Amino acid sequence: MRWEDLRSSSNVEDRRGEGGGGGGIGFPGGGAGGLGIGTIVVLLIISYFTGINPAILIGGAERMGGGNSRQEQADPQTQAKRRQAPTDQSGQFASKILGNTEDVWSQILPQQTGKQYTPTTLVLYTGGTRSGCGSAQAAMGPFYCPLDKKVYLDTNFFKEMAQKFGVKGDFAYAYVIAHEVGHHVQDVLGILPKVQARQQRASSKAEANALSVRVELMADCLAGVWAKNSNDKYAELEQGDVEEALNAAAQIGDDALQKRSQGYAVPDSFTHGSSAQRQRWFMAGYKSGQTKACDTFRSANN
Ligand SMILES: [Zn+2]
Repeated sequence: MRWEDLRSSSNVEDRRGEGGGGGGIGFPGGGAGGLGIGTIVVLLIISYFTGINPAILIGGAERMGGGNSRQEQADPQTQAKRRQAPTDQSGQFASKILGNTEDVWSQILPQQTGKQYTPTTLVLYTGGTRSGCGSAQAAMGPFYCPLDKKVYLDTNFFKEMAQKFGVKGDFAYAYVIAHEVGHHVQDVLGILPKVQARQQRASSKAEANALSVRVELMADCLAGVWAKNSNDKYAELEQGDVEEALNAAAQIGDDALQKRSQGYAVPDSFTHGSSAQRQRWFMAGYKSGQTKACDTFRSANN
């Protein structure tokens, strides 16, 4: 992927190196005296990919009802520091992918849906920070908070993806960011609040999970829509890039993760969809480039 020439976003909030859990809540186990870093990393990966952790979208939605929506308030000096453009590679990469999603979505969302696109903010952090949906921890993996309209990403996450799951390649990482931006697009389109209401009415955990799967697969599809339209305009994709994203989708499907962690898969407990589903929906968006191809709620065969 040729990402170096893409436009950097000005909507990055760089909180890396600020330390702490953004309010005193540290890692599970209390840091050095508790769980070892290896255990934490494993928890991080499992909780992210299985979606067990409440922060991933639906948890964000659950928290919406909980009234825990304190806004992060930093002093002016800290705020100015956060607004400085990242100079390291992973920070610049994230900023350029975000900038590119802004360029693409602000063009195609009005064309395809008649709705204006308002950009999300990408918060880069390490370890922990405060989000509008409560404390953000590295162990939660990347997530979108509908309350403050921000995406939270611990940049070490990409390293873990490569080490633990063999998910490698810049386009695989771009897909992760585009998936979270996809949740923001769902928010702009008014889909997230509707799903949240339906989840609250759900009569079983399995039913709520099934709704979650549809939301997640739609975000995968929207990531595909972004990739197609971006590549048509900027031609940044190289041979093997789409395969990188498909490999990521395969490695992080609920069935693959559950089989890896417990030896078998339990479809009712899926919150993100199977490997095959995630690949299929990414490709549905990528082949068509159309948001209307991403209606996972109308599709019987999701
Ligand atoms: Zn998601």
